[in-house]
This record gives sequence, C-alpha cells and structure tokens, in this order.
Amino acid sequence: MKRKNLIYTFFGLLLTTSALISFKTFAKEQIISKITGKEINDQSLLSLNWYQQSGELKALSYQAFNLAKIAFDNAKLQGIENPAVVVDIDETILDNSPYQASLIGQENGFSSETWNQWVLAAKAQSLPGAVDFINYVNNNQGTVFFVSNREVKTKNAQENDLEKMTIDNLKKVGFTGVNDKTVILQGEFTKEINGKVSQAKEWRRKAISDGLVDGKKHNIVVLMGDNLNDLSDSLETAQTNSTKIKEVEKLQNQFGISQNKSLPTLVVLPNPLYGSWEANLYQTEKFNVKKWYELTPDQKDSERRRNLIIWAK
Ligand SMILES: [Mg+2]
Repeated sequence: MKRKNLIYTFFGLLLTTSALISFKTFAKEQIISKITGKEINDQSLLSLNWYQQSGELKALSYQAFNLAKIAFDNAKLQGIENPAVVVDIDETILDNSPYQASLIGQENGFSSETWNQWVLAAKAQSLPGAVDFINYVNNNQGTVFFVSNREVKTKNAQENDLEKMTIDNLKKVGFTGVNDKTVILQGEFTKEINGKVSQAKEWRRKAISDGLVDGKKHNIVVLMGDNLNDLSDSLETAQTNSTKIKEVEKLQNQFGISQNKSLPTLVVLPNPLYGSWEANLYQTEKFNVKKWYELTPDQKDSERRRNLIIWAK
C-alpha cells in the first residue's frame, strides 16, 4: 500500500511539473507571438514591391488610361456636350508608395501628420499613362476634375497649404488644367443631411454636373479611382465589403467601357496597399472600438487572418 502511494505521488508530481513546464512554454509563446506595429507595417513588404517594381502595375495603369481614352472618345462621338472626366488623385494618377514604404521598419502606421508632411513635400510621381490621358482630355474639349479626399490645409495653417502643394505636385509632373477650381478636395461642396455634414464625393460630383464649380454644367462620362468610393454614390454608401461587392455586380456593365451609352464608364486602378476594403476587413465591435485604426496590432493581425479563405486539404 505504502509503495503504491509512493508511485501515485511520483506520477502526480511528474504530471504537475510537465503541466507547469508546458504552461510556461505557452505563456512564453504568447509573449513572443505578440504582434508589434512594426510587424503590421512589414506585412505590406510584398505588396509594396509589387506596386513599385512589377511591370504588371505599370501595364494595368496603361490599360486603365487607354480604356478611359476610348470611353472619352466614344462620348465625344455621341455628341455629349461638355464632357468631363473625374479622377481621384492618390493611387489613381499619383503614386504615393514611397510614403507607404517609409512606414516599413516604423512602429507607427499611417497618420495624417506624417501623410501631410509627404503631401507638403510634393514628391509624388505620376502613374504610367495618367499625364498623357489627362492632357488629351483637356486638349480635346473635355475637362478633368481632380476629386480627392486630401485635406485643403493642415490644422493651424494660415493658407490652404495642402491644396497649394497638391496643385504644385500635379503641375510639376506635367498635368494640365490643374487649378483651385478643378482640384476639389475634402470639405468642398459638402451637404448637410439631418444636421450632419456629409463629405461624400457624391456632392462634389453633383457640383460639377450642376455647374457650381466653374459655372458650366458638365456631363461626367468617365470616373477613375483606386477606391470604389471614387466611382458612385451607391458604392460609397455600401459600408461592408460584401455590400460593395453586390454593388459591383450591379454596375458590372460600366467597368472599363460602359455598355450603356447613357451611363458613365468606371475605371478602377489597382491598390493593394490600403483602402476602404481594408477598414472593412475588421469587426471593430468585437474589440469595443469605434474606428478600425484604434485596433491594436494583435487585433488587426488576427482579423487579417480570420478573413482568409483557406484550402482545407
Ligand atoms: Mg485614391
């Protein structure tokens, strides 16, 4: 009996020790596997290289502007008066990937402070095909409007510094028709709905069509952007990736070249670096935060993994 008790005690101790060791290992792994802000930024390494180094990005950009040119020429052949093209700026006609790349190795992600410094530096290059297309429209009885969610000015600035440097940057890389009327930024032509100010791009497009921008009523025949929100009100109003995809299905005949002469052509530029698609990946309510950028790196990482469609062999 005594001997049996000893054996039980021995195995009992063995089990407890191994449980303690494995708990310790587990706890250590938990600490090691904690994702930092730097590691979240590093997850963009491959897409940044694709954006900056691949011929595919450049080919897609030419493809987008070639299609837009055909759509613009078609509109002119149809005799549409005052044809206008509305383009977004960032990752549509200007390449800001050096700013995104500057976040690699940093703990902090995108912030309006560092972004505005980049905007003020006016160092962005144009995307392939953008300058030729935009200048072609402006030289052929069309008007290009640059509708962007860049801000007009930094917080305590006396002048519209961000607008001024955006215009400078666009001119510097060779775009024509760039001025404070054609460049329409966030906060311009807003609309108050139920006491709340809506800054949706829809009101800026409406101002272009209604003649509020330059006293001329324009017919928007082509819309270009890297974000679906740049292209239509229904796409901007849809708040989740699945509802946006449903809207894309509805608008499928307008992408590239509109199949319906009375509806504008929608042209999408590739952007795997950021966008509202990313914000829509995260279930913020799960983590009791209101905005996706308030999520911790760990939470972002786990949400990015949760969304993957994985082959279960
Ligand atoms: Mg953009």
